[in-house]
Amino acid sequence: MEFATFADRAGTIDAEAADLEIVARVRDLLAAAGDDACEGAKPETLELVARFAQGRVFPAWDSTTLDIGPSACYEAIARAAGTNVSADDIEDRLADVGEIGDVAASYDFGGQQGLSAFTGGGTDDSSDDLTVREVYETLVDLAHAEGSGSQDRKVDLLFGLFNRCSSEEARYLARIVLSEMRIGVGEGTVRDAIAGAFDVPEDRVERALQVSNDYGRVARIARDEGLEGLDAMELEIGRPVQAMLAQAGTVTDALEEWDEAGVEWKYDGARIQLHYVPGDAETTAETRVFSRNMEEVTDALPEVVEFADDTLEEPVILDGEVVAIDEDGAPLPFQEVLKRFRRKHDVAKAREDVTVRPVFFDCLHADGEDLLAEPLTTRHDRLRSVLGGADAADHTDGDGTTADADVEGLSLLWLTDDPDEIESIDADALEAGHEGIMLKNPASTYSPGRRGKHWRKRKPDVETLDCVVTGAEWGEGRRATFLGTFELAVRAGDDLETVGKVATGITDEKLAELTELLEPHIATEDGQDVDIEPAIVFEVGYEEIQTSPTYSSGYALRFPRFLSVRPDKDPADADSLERLARLHGQ
Ligand code: AMP
Repeated sequence: MEFATFADRAGTIDAEAADLEIVARVRDLLAAAGDDACEGAKPETLELVARFAQGRVFPAWDSTTLDIGPSACYEAIARAAGTNVSADDIEDRLADVGEIGDVAASYDFGGQQGLSAFTGGGTDDSSDDLTVREVYETLVDLAHAEGSGSQDRKVDLLFGLFNRCSSEEARYLARIVLSEMRIGVGEGTVRDAIAGAFDVPEDRVERALQVSNDYGRVARIARDEGLEGLDAMELEIGRPVQAMLAQAGTVTDALEEWDEAGVEWKYDGARIQLHYVPGDAETTAETRVFSRNMEEVTDALPEVVEFADDTLEEPVILDGEVVAIDEDGAPLPFQEVLKRFRRKHDVAKAREDVTVRPVFFDCLHADGEDLLAEPLTTRHDRLRSVLGGADAADHTDGDGTTADADVEGLSLLWLTDDPDEIESIDADALEAGHEGIMLKNPASTYSPGRRGKHWRKRKPDVETLDCVVTGAEWGEGRRATFLGTFELAVRAGDDLETVGKVATGITDEKLAELTELLEPHIATEDGQDVDIEPAIVFEVGYEEIQTSPTYSSGYALRFPRFLSVRPDKDPADADSLERLARLHGQ
Protein backbone atom coordinates (compact mmCIF):
# COMPACT_ATOMS: atom_id res chain seq x y z
CA MET A 1 0.00 0.00 0.00
CA GLU A 2 1.26 3.45 -0.85
CA PHE A 3 1.83 5.71 2.06
CA ALA A 4 -0.24 8.32 0.21
CA THR A 5 -3.23 5.95 0.34
CA PHE A 6 -2.74 5.46 4.05
CA ALA A 7 -2.44 9.24 4.57
CA ASP A 8 -5.52 9.86 2.49
CA ARG A 9 -7.59 7.39 4.49
CA ALA A 10 -6.16 8.67 7.77
CA GLY A 11 -7.35 12.12 6.64
CA THR A 12 -10.90 10.91 6.12
CA ILE A 13 -10.85 9.23 9.53
CA ASP A 14 -9.48 12.42 11.05
CA ALA A 15 -12.34 14.42 9.52
CA GLU A 16 -15.01 12.15 11.03
CA ALA A 17 -16.49 12.76 14.47
CA ALA A 18 -18.99 9.91 14.88
CA ASP A 19 -17.50 6.82 16.56
CA LEU A 20 -19.35 4.28 14.45
CA GLU A 21 -18.32 5.97 11.25
CA ILE A 22 -14.70 6.10 12.43
CA VAL A 23 -14.82 2.36 13.09
CA ALA A 24 -16.26 1.82 9.60
CA ARG A 25 -13.47 3.82 8.00
CA VAL A 26 -10.75 2.05 9.96
CA ARG A 27 -12.39 -1.24 9.00
CA ASP A 28 -12.20 -0.28 5.33
CA LEU A 29 -8.59 0.79 5.77
CA LEU A 30 -7.72 -2.58 7.33
CA ALA A 31 -9.62 -4.47 4.65
CA ALA A 32 -7.73 -2.56 1.95
CA ALA A 33 -4.39 -3.16 3.68
CA GLY A 34 -5.33 -6.82 4.09
CA ASP A 35 -5.68 -7.14 0.32
CA ASP A 36 -2.27 -5.65 -0.27
CA ALA A 37 0.04 -8.06 -2.09
CA CYS A 38 3.04 -8.36 0.17
CA GLU A 39 4.75 -11.52 -1.08
CA GLY A 40 5.55 -12.96 2.29
CA ALA A 41 7.14 -9.81 3.70
CA LYS A 42 6.98 -9.68 7.47
CA PRO A 43 5.35 -7.91 9.12
CA GLU A 44 2.61 -7.63 6.55
CA THR A 45 1.18 -4.32 5.41
CA LEU A 46 -2.00 -5.10 7.32
CA GLU A 47 0.00 -5.32 10.55
CA LEU A 48 1.80 -2.07 9.83
CA VAL A 49 -1.39 -0.21 9.01
CA ALA A 50 -3.11 -1.48 12.16
CA ARG A 51 -0.24 0.02 14.16
CA PHE A 52 0.23 3.21 12.17
CA ALA A 53 -3.45 4.02 12.61
CA GLN A 54 -2.75 4.27 16.33
CA GLY A 55 0.49 6.15 15.83
CA ARG A 56 2.63 3.12 16.65
CA VAL A 57 5.57 1.79 14.70
CA PHE A 58 6.20 -1.28 16.85
CA PRO A 59 3.78 -3.57 18.70
CA ALA A 60 2.96 -2.51 22.26
CA TRP A 61 4.88 -5.45 23.75
CA ASP A 62 8.05 -4.48 21.91
CA SER A 63 10.33 -2.14 23.86
CA THR A 64 11.99 -0.85 20.68
CA THR A 65 11.63 2.90 20.34
CA LEU A 66 12.61 5.30 17.58
CA ASP A 67 14.61 7.18 20.18
CA ILE A 68 14.31 10.41 18.30
CA GLY A 69 13.33 13.63 20.01
CA PRO A 70 10.98 16.31 18.67
CA SER A 71 13.86 18.65 17.77
CA ALA A 72 15.49 16.03 15.52
CA CYS A 73 12.13 15.58 13.83
CA TYR A 74 11.80 19.37 13.34
CA GLU A 75 15.29 19.39 11.88
CA ALA A 76 14.37 16.69 9.36
CA ILE A 77 11.16 18.51 8.39
CA ALA A 78 13.06 21.79 8.02
CA ARG A 79 15.68 20.24 5.77
CA ALA A 80 13.06 18.64 3.55
CA ALA A 81 11.05 21.87 3.44
CA GLY A 82 13.82 23.86 1.76
CA THR A 83 17.05 25.72 2.25
CA ASN A 84 15.44 28.75 3.79
CA VAL A 85 13.58 26.82 6.52
CA SER A 86 15.23 26.10 9.89
CA ALA A 87 14.24 23.91 12.82
CA ASP A 88 13.50 27.13 14.71
CA ASP A 89 11.00 28.11 12.04
CA ILE A 90 9.28 24.75 12.53
CA GLU A 91 9.12 25.34 16.26
CA ASP A 92 7.76 28.87 15.77
CA ARG A 93 5.08 27.60 13.46
CA LEU A 94 4.29 24.82 15.94
CA ALA A 95 3.80 27.44 18.64
CA ASP A 96 1.27 29.16 16.34
CA VAL A 97 -0.48 26.11 14.93
CA GLY A 98 -0.24 23.85 17.97
CA GLU A 99 0.16 20.50 16.25
CA ILE A 100 3.12 19.01 14.37
CA GLY A 101 1.02 17.35 11.64
CA ASP A 102 -0.46 20.69 10.62
CA VAL A 103 3.00 22.24 10.63
CA ALA A 104 4.48 19.50 8.42
CA ALA A 105 1.50 19.69 6.05
CA SER A 106 2.01 23.42 5.62
CA TYR A 107 5.22 22.92 3.61
CA ASP A 108 5.86 21.75 0.06
CA PHE A 109 8.32 18.92 0.12
CA GLY A 110 9.15 18.77 -3.57
CA GLY A 111 10.00 15.22 -4.66
CA GLN A 112 6.84 13.18 -4.60
CA GLN A 113 4.54 16.05 -5.29
CA GLY A 114 6.40 17.17 -8.37
CA LEU A 115 6.48 13.63 -9.66
CA SER A 116 2.82 12.99 -8.89
CA ALA A 117 1.84 16.11 -10.76
CA PHE A 118 3.94 14.98 -13.69
CA THR A 119 2.58 11.43 -13.85
CA GLY A 120 -0.97 12.54 -13.24
CA GLY A 121 -1.42 11.47 -9.63
CA GLY A 122 1.17 8.81 -8.92
CA THR A 123 0.83 5.22 -10.09
CA ASP A 124 1.85 1.87 -8.67
CA ASP A 125 4.79 1.53 -10.97
CA SER A 126 6.20 4.91 -10.07
CA SER A 127 9.35 3.96 -8.21
CA ASP A 128 9.19 7.17 -6.23
CA ASP A 129 5.89 6.44 -4.52
CA LEU A 130 6.57 5.98 -0.86
CA THR A 131 4.96 2.82 0.48
CA VAL A 132 3.81 1.99 3.98
CA ARG A 133 6.48 -0.71 4.01
CA GLU A 134 9.26 1.68 3.03
CA VAL A 135 8.24 4.06 5.78
CA TYR A 136 8.29 1.19 8.26
CA GLU A 137 11.63 -0.17 7.09
CA THR A 138 13.25 3.23 7.25
CA LEU A 139 11.88 3.76 10.76
CA VAL A 140 13.30 0.38 11.79
CA ASP A 141 16.73 1.45 10.51
CA LEU A 142 16.29 4.69 12.35
CA ALA A 143 15.40 2.89 15.60
CA HIS A 144 18.45 0.68 15.29
CA ALA A 145 20.93 3.47 14.58
CA GLU A 146 23.31 3.41 17.51
CA GLY A 147 26.61 4.83 18.65
CA SER A 148 28.40 7.99 17.71
CA GLY A 149 26.76 9.95 14.94
CA SER A 150 23.55 7.99 15.33
CA GLN A 151 21.43 11.10 15.96
CA ASP A 152 22.67 12.57 12.66
CA ARG A 153 21.93 9.32 10.92
CA LYS A 154 18.42 9.32 12.33
CA VAL A 155 17.83 12.87 11.09
CA ASP A 156 19.21 11.88 7.66
CA LEU A 157 16.88 8.91 7.43
CA LEU A 158 13.89 10.94 8.45
CA PHE A 159 14.83 13.73 6.08
CA GLY A 160 14.93 11.12 3.31
CA LEU A 161 11.35 10.17 4.11
CA PHE A 162 9.98 13.69 4.40
CA ASN A 163 11.75 14.56 1.18
CA ARG A 164 9.55 12.07 -0.63
CA CYS A 165 6.32 13.09 1.07
CA SER A 166 3.40 15.10 -0.15
CA SER A 167 2.02 17.54 2.39
CA GLU A 168 -0.62 15.06 3.53
CA GLU A 169 1.87 12.22 3.84
CA ALA A 170 4.15 14.53 5.84
CA ARG A 171 1.28 15.33 8.19
CA TYR A 172 0.85 11.68 9.18
CA LEU A 173 4.52 10.77 9.04
CA ALA A 174 5.31 13.54 11.56
CA ARG A 175 2.51 12.36 13.80
CA ILE A 176 3.61 8.70 13.65
CA VAL A 177 7.23 9.62 14.39
CA LEU A 178 6.21 11.66 17.42
CA SER A 179 3.55 9.10 18.51
CA GLU A 180 0.80 11.72 18.26
CA MET A 181 -1.54 10.25 15.66
CA ARG A 182 -4.66 11.95 17.05
CA ILE A 183 -7.16 10.76 14.48
CA GLY A 184 -9.52 9.45 17.12
CA VAL A 185 -8.46 5.81 16.69
CA GLY A 186 -8.18 4.26 20.13
CA GLU A 187 -7.67 0.62 20.98
CA GLY A 188 -11.42 -0.04 21.06
CA THR A 189 -11.76 1.40 17.55
CA VAL A 190 -9.14 -0.94 16.13
CA ARG A 191 -10.69 -3.88 17.95
CA ASP A 192 -14.11 -3.19 16.47
CA ALA A 193 -12.61 -2.48 13.06
CA ILE A 194 -10.74 -5.82 13.03
CA ALA A 195 -13.97 -7.58 14.00
CA GLY A 196 -15.82 -5.80 11.20
CA ALA A 197 -13.14 -6.22 8.53
CA PHE A 198 -12.65 -9.95 9.02
CA ASP A 199 -16.07 -10.94 10.35
CA VAL A 200 -15.15 -12.19 13.79
CA PRO A 201 -16.83 -11.36 17.14
CA GLU A 202 -15.50 -8.33 19.02
CA ASP A 203 -15.09 -10.13 22.34
CA ARG A 204 -12.84 -12.77 20.77
CA VAL A 205 -10.75 -10.05 19.14
CA GLU A 206 -10.54 -8.42 22.54
CA ARG A 207 -9.28 -11.62 24.16
CA ALA A 208 -6.71 -12.12 21.43
CA LEU A 209 -5.54 -8.54 21.90
CA GLN A 210 -5.24 -9.02 25.64
CA VAL A 211 -3.03 -12.07 25.33
CA SER A 212 -0.90 -10.88 22.42
CA ASN A 213 -0.80 -7.14 22.97
CA ASP A 214 -0.29 -6.86 19.24
CA TYR A 215 -2.98 -5.27 17.06
CA GLY A 216 -1.15 -6.06 13.85
CA ARG A 217 -0.81 -9.74 14.58
CA VAL A 218 -4.42 -10.05 15.71
CA ALA A 219 -5.60 -8.39 12.50
CA ARG A 220 -3.50 -10.77 10.40
CA ILE A 221 -4.66 -13.86 12.26
CA ALA A 222 -8.29 -12.72 12.11
CA ARG A 223 -7.93 -12.41 8.32
CA ASP A 224 -5.99 -15.65 7.74
CA GLU A 225 -7.30 -18.03 10.39
CA GLY A 226 -10.56 -16.47 11.57
CA LEU A 227 -12.07 -17.27 14.91
CA GLU A 228 -10.19 -20.50 15.37
CA GLY A 229 -6.87 -18.72 14.98
CA LEU A 230 -7.86 -15.95 17.37
CA ASP A 231 -9.00 -18.41 20.03
CA ALA A 232 -5.75 -20.32 19.72
CA MET A 233 -3.67 -17.23 20.52
CA GLU A 234 -1.91 -17.44 23.84
CA LEU A 235 0.39 -15.47 26.07
CA GLU A 236 4.01 -15.64 25.05
CA ILE A 237 6.77 -15.49 27.57
CA GLY A 238 8.92 -12.46 26.78
CA ARG A 239 6.04 -10.40 25.43
CA PRO A 240 4.58 -8.28 28.20
CA VAL A 241 0.84 -7.82 28.52
CA GLN A 242 -0.89 -4.75 29.85
CA ALA A 243 -1.23 -4.69 33.62
CA MET A 244 -4.63 -4.97 35.25
CA LEU A 245 -5.41 -1.71 37.01
CA ALA A 246 -7.33 -0.68 40.07
CA GLN A 247 -9.87 2.02 40.74
CA ALA A 248 -10.44 3.82 44.01
CA GLY A 249 -13.09 2.28 46.21
CA THR A 250 -14.39 1.64 49.67
CA VAL A 251 -14.78 -1.41 51.89
CA THR A 252 -18.52 -0.72 51.97
CA ASP A 253 -18.87 -0.95 48.20
CA ALA A 254 -16.62 -3.98 47.94
CA LEU A 255 -18.60 -5.93 50.53
CA GLU A 256 -21.90 -4.88 49.01
CA GLU A 257 -20.94 -6.06 45.54
CA TRP A 258 -19.00 -9.22 46.31
CA ASP A 259 -19.91 -11.95 48.78
CA GLU A 260 -16.50 -11.60 50.28
CA ALA A 261 -13.48 -9.51 49.47
CA GLY A 262 -9.95 -10.53 48.69
CA VAL A 263 -7.71 -8.28 50.73
CA GLU A 264 -4.02 -7.67 50.10
CA TRP A 265 -1.48 -5.21 51.31
CA LYS A 266 -0.82 -2.39 48.92
CA TYR A 267 2.92 -2.13 48.41
CA ASP A 268 4.44 1.26 47.73
CA GLY A 269 6.75 0.37 44.91
CA ALA A 270 6.83 0.08 41.13
CA ARG A 271 4.80 -2.43 39.15
CA ILE A 272 6.73 -5.23 37.47
CA GLN A 273 5.85 -8.12 35.20
CA LEU A 274 8.30 -10.97 35.36
CA HIS A 275 8.75 -13.40 32.47
CA TYR A 276 10.83 -16.46 33.24
CA VAL A 277 11.94 -19.51 31.28
CA PRO A 278 14.06 -22.08 33.15
CA GLY A 279 17.26 -23.32 31.58
CA ASP A 280 17.98 -26.88 30.52
CA ALA A 281 21.05 -28.87 29.52
CA GLU A 282 21.75 -26.54 26.62
CA THR A 283 20.29 -23.20 27.61
CA THR A 284 20.52 -20.94 30.62
CA ALA A 285 17.44 -19.63 32.35
CA GLU A 286 16.08 -16.39 31.00
CA THR A 287 14.41 -13.71 33.08
CA ARG A 288 12.96 -10.53 31.70
CA VAL A 289 11.32 -7.83 33.76
CA PHE A 290 8.97 -5.20 32.38
CA SER A 291 7.52 -2.02 33.84
CA ARG A 292 3.84 -1.14 33.95
CA ASN A 293 4.35 0.57 30.59
CA MET A 294 5.88 -2.62 29.23
CA GLU A 295 9.33 -1.14 29.04
CA GLU A 296 12.09 -3.64 29.73
CA VAL A 297 13.79 -2.95 33.08
CA THR A 298 15.62 -6.26 33.60
CA ASP A 299 19.12 -4.81 33.77
CA ALA A 300 18.15 -2.29 36.43
CA LEU A 301 16.84 -4.95 38.81
CA PRO A 302 19.41 -7.74 39.30
CA GLU A 303 17.79 -8.71 42.63
CA VAL A 304 14.64 -9.67 40.73
CA VAL A 305 16.64 -11.80 38.29
CA GLU A 306 18.44 -13.47 41.19
CA PHE A 307 15.13 -14.07 42.93
CA ALA A 308 13.79 -15.76 39.81
CA ASP A 309 16.91 -17.92 39.44
CA ASP A 310 16.76 -19.00 43.07
CA THR A 311 13.03 -19.60 43.30
CA LEU A 312 11.40 -20.45 40.00
CA GLU A 313 11.42 -23.80 38.26
CA GLU A 314 8.80 -23.52 35.58
CA PRO A 315 8.05 -21.03 32.80
CA VAL A 316 5.90 -18.27 34.28
CA ILE A 317 4.57 -14.75 33.87
CA LEU A 318 4.08 -13.07 37.23
CA ASP A 319 2.63 -9.70 38.16
CA GLY A 320 3.89 -7.81 41.17
CA GLU A 321 5.62 -4.87 42.67
CA VAL A 322 9.27 -4.13 43.32
CA VAL A 323 9.78 -2.43 46.67
CA ALA A 324 12.82 -0.71 48.18
CA ILE A 325 13.73 -2.09 51.60
CA ASP A 326 16.03 -1.15 54.48
CA GLU A 327 18.54 -3.51 56.16
CA ASP A 328 15.72 -5.06 58.22
CA GLY A 329 13.63 -5.71 55.17
CA ALA A 330 11.15 -2.94 56.07
CA PRO A 331 9.72 -1.06 53.09
CA LEU A 332 11.11 2.34 52.14
CA PRO A 333 9.15 5.09 50.38
CA PHE A 334 8.44 4.94 46.68
CA GLN A 335 11.09 7.61 45.92
CA GLU A 336 13.77 5.08 46.85
CA VAL A 337 12.59 2.56 44.24
CA LEU A 338 12.75 5.28 41.65
CA LYS A 339 16.49 5.54 42.23
CA ARG A 340 16.74 1.98 40.92
CA PHE A 341 13.92 1.57 38.45
CA ARG A 342 14.83 2.15 34.78
CA ARG A 343 18.41 2.87 35.75
CA LYS A 344 20.75 2.13 32.86
CA HIS A 345 24.19 3.02 34.26
CA ASP A 346 26.00 2.26 37.50
CA VAL A 347 23.45 -0.32 38.55
CA ALA A 348 25.92 -2.08 40.87
CA LYS A 349 26.66 1.18 42.65
CA ALA A 350 22.97 2.07 42.91
CA ARG A 351 22.33 -1.38 44.32
CA GLU A 352 24.75 -0.66 47.16
CA ASP A 353 22.70 2.40 48.09
CA VAL A 354 19.19 1.01 47.71
CA THR A 355 18.13 -2.64 47.91
CA VAL A 356 14.95 -3.80 46.24
CA ARG A 357 12.88 -6.95 46.49
CA PRO A 358 9.96 -8.23 44.46
CA VAL A 359 6.54 -9.12 45.85
CA PHE A 360 4.17 -10.95 43.51
CA PHE A 361 0.40 -10.84 43.67
CA ASP A 362 -0.66 -12.53 40.45
CA CYS A 363 0.24 -15.33 38.10
CA LEU A 364 -0.81 -14.93 34.46
CA HIS A 365 0.85 -18.01 33.04
CA ALA A 366 2.50 -21.08 34.48
CA ASP A 367 4.06 -24.02 32.73
CA GLY A 368 2.33 -23.64 29.39
CA GLU A 369 -1.02 -22.73 30.87
CA ASP A 370 -2.63 -19.28 30.52
CA LEU A 371 -4.46 -18.28 33.67
CA LEU A 372 -6.06 -14.96 32.67
CA ALA A 373 -9.52 -16.52 32.57
CA GLU A 374 -9.16 -18.21 35.97
CA PRO A 375 -10.54 -16.58 39.13
CA LEU A 376 -8.18 -14.65 41.40
CA THR A 377 -8.17 -17.38 44.03
CA THR A 378 -7.03 -20.02 41.53
CA ARG A 379 -4.33 -17.70 40.19
CA HIS A 380 -3.16 -16.97 43.72
CA ASP A 381 -2.95 -20.70 44.52
CA ARG A 382 -0.90 -21.22 41.40
CA LEU A 383 1.28 -18.25 42.31
CA ARG A 384 1.97 -19.72 45.73
CA SER A 385 2.94 -23.04 44.26
CA VAL A 386 5.28 -21.55 41.61
CA LEU A 387 6.97 -19.62 44.40
CA GLY A 388 7.59 -22.86 46.24
CA GLY A 389 4.62 -22.88 48.65
CA ALA A 390 1.72 -25.25 49.10
CA ASP A 391 -0.67 -25.96 46.24
CA ALA A 392 -3.74 -24.60 48.00
CA ALA A 393 -4.61 -22.62 51.10
CA ASP A 394 -7.62 -21.54 53.07
CA HIS A 395 -7.69 -17.76 53.11
CA THR A 396 -10.84 -17.37 55.11
CA ASP A 397 -9.28 -16.72 58.46
CA GLY A 398 -6.15 -15.11 59.72
CA ASP A 399 -4.49 -18.46 60.19
CA GLY A 400 -5.29 -19.58 56.67
CA THR A 401 -2.78 -17.15 55.33
CA THR A 402 0.02 -18.86 57.22
CA ALA A 403 0.19 -21.02 54.09
CA ASP A 404 1.29 -17.83 52.33
CA ALA A 405 3.31 -16.30 55.12
CA ASP A 406 6.47 -18.32 54.71
CA VAL A 407 6.57 -18.11 50.95
CA GLU A 408 9.14 -15.57 49.97
CA GLY A 409 8.02 -13.01 47.42
CA LEU A 410 4.31 -13.83 47.79
CA SER A 411 1.75 -11.15 48.60
CA LEU A 412 -0.67 -12.47 51.24
CA LEU A 413 -4.33 -12.79 50.29
CA TRP A 414 -7.12 -12.84 52.85
CA LEU A 415 -10.72 -13.66 51.98
CA THR A 416 -13.25 -12.13 54.31
CA ASP A 417 -16.69 -10.54 54.57
CA ASP A 418 -15.91 -9.00 57.95
CA PRO A 419 -15.24 -5.26 57.85
CA ASP A 420 -13.48 -5.42 61.20
CA GLU A 421 -11.03 -7.94 59.85
CA ILE A 422 -10.41 -5.74 56.83
CA GLU A 423 -9.73 -2.82 59.18
CA SER A 424 -7.20 -4.81 61.08
CA ILE A 425 -5.46 -6.01 57.88
CA ASP A 426 -5.31 -2.34 56.86
CA ALA A 427 -3.83 -1.39 60.23
CA ASP A 428 -1.23 -4.14 59.99
CA ALA A 429 -0.31 -2.99 56.47
CA LEU A 430 0.14 0.62 57.59
CA GLU A 431 2.02 -0.51 60.67
CA ALA A 432 4.39 -2.57 58.50
CA GLY A 433 5.08 0.55 56.43
CA HIS A 434 2.93 -0.25 53.39
CA GLU A 435 0.48 2.04 51.65
CA GLY A 436 -2.76 0.43 52.84
CA ILE A 437 -4.84 -2.29 51.23
CA MET A 438 -6.14 -3.44 47.88
CA LEU A 439 -9.58 -5.00 47.71
CA LYS A 440 -10.04 -7.59 44.99
CA ASN A 441 -13.03 -9.56 43.77
CA PRO A 442 -12.00 -13.19 44.47
CA ALA A 443 -14.02 -14.44 41.51
CA SER A 444 -12.58 -11.98 39.00
CA THR A 445 -10.51 -12.91 35.98
CA TYR A 446 -7.38 -10.97 35.01
CA SER A 447 -8.31 -8.17 32.60
CA PRO A 448 -5.16 -6.67 31.06
CA GLY A 449 -5.22 -2.91 30.76
CA ARG A 450 -8.55 -2.54 32.51
CA ARG A 451 -9.16 -0.10 35.31
CA GLY A 452 -12.20 -2.07 36.37
CA LYS A 453 -14.19 -2.51 39.53
CA HIS A 454 -12.62 -5.83 40.39
CA TRP A 455 -9.50 -4.32 41.88
CA ARG A 456 -9.96 -1.41 44.20
CA LYS A 457 -7.42 0.62 46.02
CA ARG A 458 -8.88 1.88 49.19
CA LYS A 459 -9.50 5.57 48.97
CA PRO A 460 -7.27 7.55 51.25
CA ASP A 461 -9.24 9.46 53.86
CA VAL A 462 -10.09 12.78 52.33
CA GLU A 463 -11.08 14.32 55.62
CA THR A 464 -10.20 13.02 59.05
CA LEU A 465 -11.85 13.88 62.34
CA ASP A 466 -10.30 14.73 65.67
CA CYS A 467 -12.49 13.08 68.31
CA VAL A 468 -12.35 13.02 72.09
CA VAL A 469 -12.13 9.57 73.70
CA THR A 470 -14.97 9.31 76.25
CA GLY A 471 -15.06 5.58 76.92
CA ALA A 472 -13.50 2.22 76.24
CA GLU A 473 -13.84 -1.50 76.98
CA TRP A 474 -11.37 -3.87 78.52
CA GLY A 475 -10.40 -6.52 76.02
CA GLU A 476 -10.75 -10.27 76.29
CA GLY A 477 -8.31 -13.17 76.34
CA ARG A 478 -4.93 -12.11 75.08
CA ARG A 479 -6.08 -8.50 75.17
CA ALA A 480 -7.60 -8.59 78.70
CA THR A 481 -5.09 -6.08 80.01
CA PHE A 482 -5.63 -3.65 77.16
CA LEU A 483 -8.29 -1.05 76.70
CA GLY A 484 -9.96 -1.22 73.30
CA THR A 485 -13.22 -0.32 71.51
CA PHE A 486 -12.76 3.39 72.17
CA GLU A 487 -15.84 5.57 72.25
CA LEU A 488 -15.46 8.77 70.26
CA ALA A 489 -17.17 12.11 70.70
CA VAL A 490 -17.27 15.54 69.10
CA ARG A 491 -17.85 18.93 70.71
CA ALA A 492 -21.39 20.34 70.88
CA GLY A 493 -21.15 23.67 72.66
CA ASP A 494 -19.75 22.84 76.10
CA ASP A 495 -20.85 19.21 75.83
CA LEU A 496 -19.52 16.19 74.05
CA GLU A 497 -21.74 13.99 71.88
CA THR A 498 -20.78 10.50 70.81
CA VAL A 499 -20.31 9.55 67.13
CA GLY A 500 -19.05 5.98 67.17
CA LYS A 501 -16.56 3.47 68.42
CA VAL A 502 -13.22 2.64 66.96
CA ALA A 503 -12.29 -0.92 67.75
CA THR A 504 -10.27 -2.39 64.99
CA GLY A 505 -7.27 -1.30 63.08
CA ILE A 506 -5.03 -1.13 66.11
CA THR A 507 -2.10 -3.45 66.72
CA ASP A 508 -1.36 -4.99 70.14
CA GLU A 509 1.66 -2.78 70.49
CA LYS A 510 -0.41 0.32 69.85
CA LEU A 511 -3.16 -0.92 72.22
CA ALA A 512 -0.58 -1.24 75.02
CA GLU A 513 0.52 2.32 74.33
CA LEU A 514 -3.05 3.66 74.26
CA THR A 515 -3.93 1.80 77.47
CA GLU A 516 -1.01 3.42 79.23
CA LEU A 517 -2.10 6.80 77.94
CA LEU A 518 -5.80 6.45 78.85
CA GLU A 519 -5.69 4.49 82.14
CA PRO A 520 -4.94 7.57 84.29
CA HIS A 521 -8.11 9.17 82.89
CA ILE A 522 -10.51 6.35 83.78
CA ALA A 523 -13.48 7.90 85.60
CA THR A 524 -15.67 4.88 86.36
CA GLU A 525 -15.69 1.18 85.52
CA ASP A 526 -18.60 -1.20 85.18
CA GLY A 527 -17.47 -4.71 84.25
CA GLN A 528 -15.61 -4.36 80.98
CA ASP A 529 -17.03 -0.90 80.32
CA VAL A 530 -15.02 2.12 81.24
CA ASP A 531 -15.89 5.84 81.24
CA ILE A 532 -13.00 8.07 80.41
CA GLU A 533 -12.62 11.73 81.31
CA PRO A 534 -12.27 13.86 78.25
CA ALA A 535 -8.55 14.38 77.88
CA ILE A 536 -7.23 12.49 74.90
CA VAL A 537 -7.92 13.24 71.22
CA PHE A 538 -7.71 10.63 68.46
CA GLU A 539 -7.47 11.43 64.79
CA VAL A 540 -9.79 8.99 62.99
CA GLY A 541 -10.57 8.18 59.39
CA TYR A 542 -13.92 6.88 58.16
CA GLU A 543 -15.66 5.96 54.98
CA GLU A 544 -18.89 7.82 55.48
CA ILE A 545 -20.95 9.79 58.00
CA GLN A 546 -24.50 8.55 58.46
CA THR A 547 -27.41 9.82 60.51
CA SER A 548 -28.04 7.30 63.28
CA PRO A 549 -30.02 7.01 66.48
CA THR A 550 -27.26 4.87 68.06
CA TYR A 551 -25.10 7.75 69.21
CA SER A 552 -26.03 10.95 71.04
CA SER A 553 -24.78 13.21 68.23
CA GLY A 554 -27.41 11.76 65.90
CA TYR A 555 -24.62 10.68 63.52
CA ALA A 556 -22.44 7.60 63.21
CA LEU A 557 -19.08 7.15 61.51
CA ARG A 558 -19.07 4.25 59.06
CA PHE A 559 -15.87 2.18 59.34
CA PRO A 560 -14.05 4.49 61.68
CA ARG A 561 -10.37 3.74 61.94
CA PHE A 562 -7.74 4.89 64.33
CA LEU A 563 -5.02 6.96 62.68
CA SER A 564 -3.11 8.61 65.52
CA VAL A 565 -3.20 10.23 68.94
CA ARG A 566 -3.15 14.03 68.78
CA PRO A 567 -1.02 14.99 71.80
CA ASP A 568 -1.03 18.54 70.48
CA LYS A 569 -4.82 18.83 70.90
CA ASP A 570 -7.10 19.25 73.91
CA PRO A 571 -10.75 18.24 73.91
CA ALA A 572 -11.54 21.91 73.25
CA ASP A 573 -9.66 21.61 69.97
CA ALA A 574 -11.56 18.51 68.84
CA ASP A 575 -13.95 18.69 65.90
CA SER A 576 -17.45 20.04 66.46
CA LEU A 577 -20.89 18.65 65.76
CA GLU A 578 -21.33 21.45 63.21
CA ARG A 579 -18.36 20.22 61.22
CA LEU A 580 -19.70 16.67 61.39
CA ALA A 581 -23.07 17.89 60.10
CA ARG A 582 -21.35 19.82 57.33
CA LEU A 583 -19.27 16.82 56.27
CA HIS A 584 -22.40 14.68 56.31
CA GLY A 585 -24.16 17.13 54.01
CA GLN A 586 -21.35 17.20 51.45
P1 AMP B 1 -2.27 3.29 41.94
O1 AMP B 1 -0.88 3.29 41.37
O2 AMP B 1 -2.45 4.22 43.09
O3 AMP B 1 -3.32 3.37 40.86
O4 AMP B 1 -2.52 1.84 42.59
C1 AMP B 1 -2.44 0.69 41.85
C2 AMP B 1 -1.04 0.14 41.90
O5 AMP B 1 -0.74 -0.35 43.20
C3 AMP B 1 -0.82 -1.06 41.03
O6 AMP B 1 -0.61 -0.70 39.69
C4 AMP B 1 0.40 -1.69 41.64
O7 AMP B 1 1.55 -1.09 41.08
C5 AMP B 1 0.32 -1.27 43.09
N1 AMP B 1 0.08 -2.39 44.04
C6 AMP B 1 0.70 -2.50 45.24
N2 AMP B 1 0.29 -3.59 45.89
C7 AMP B 1 -0.61 -4.22 45.09
C8 AMP B 1 -1.39 -5.41 45.21
N3 AMP B 1 -1.34 -6.18 46.30
N4 AMP B 1 -2.20 -5.74 44.18
C9 AMP B 1 -2.27 -4.96 43.07
N5 AMP B 1 -1.56 -3.83 42.90
C10 AMP B 1 -0.74 -3.44 43.90
